[in-house]
Amino acid sequence: MLADLLDRNIAWSSHRNAIEPDYFARLATQQAPEFFWIGCSDSRVPANVVAGLDPGEVFVHRNVANVVHSSDMNLLSALEFAVEALKIREIIVCGHYGCGGVRAATEDLPHGLADHWLEPIRRLARSYAVDLARTVSTEDFRDRLAELNVVEGVRRVSETPILQRAWDRGMPISVHGLIYSLKDGLLRDLNCTIDRSHISLEAGE
Ligand code: ZN
Repeated sequence: MLADLLDRNIAWSSHRNAIEPDYFARLATQQAPEFFWIGCSDSRVPANVVAGLDPGEVFVHRNVANVVHSSDMNLLSALEFAVEALKIREIIVCGHYGCGGVRAATEDLPHGLADHWLEPIRRLARSYAVDLARTVSTEDFRDRLAELNVVEGVRRVSETPILQRAWDRGMPISVHGLIYSLKDGLLRDLNCTIDRSHISLEAGE
């Protein structure tokens, strides 16, 4: 299995080099991605592939069910690096339909540590119980909850001191929420973007 993986790597490297001979030399000296992607660890939702981006074009953080925990040092460190060092302007929180993490959060079964990790999704399900009661099936319920988890993630990223400080300094960063469908391979905009103008509005109230 590993030998096969290494063979694939050699083939990919050769192919890439044939297309663009200075590709690796260029990427080795610097990375200048335009996007910071916060997505699910699910193997079917790799940021570069589904967004059609090459290595070097998207800085990525992934975890089970793309949960934005306000105290997650892993995510916060990546976010700070994306904003302060890479000067990324577009942050994307991307969930997906058919998410196993969201499903686990809705099951009445013990999942060990995952139950702690997924607690914010359980809380969302309680907060939006009236809205979720309108769903027509268990799959629909979970997919709607996956969307709510993205919207909540956008809000939480926006509320971090990292983003608040960046916006105070006038940095034009936008935080978007997308959802990916495993069934058709398409990303959909959940239209929950938060940018600097929202902060200005709040300050003016
Ligand atoms: Zn998932």
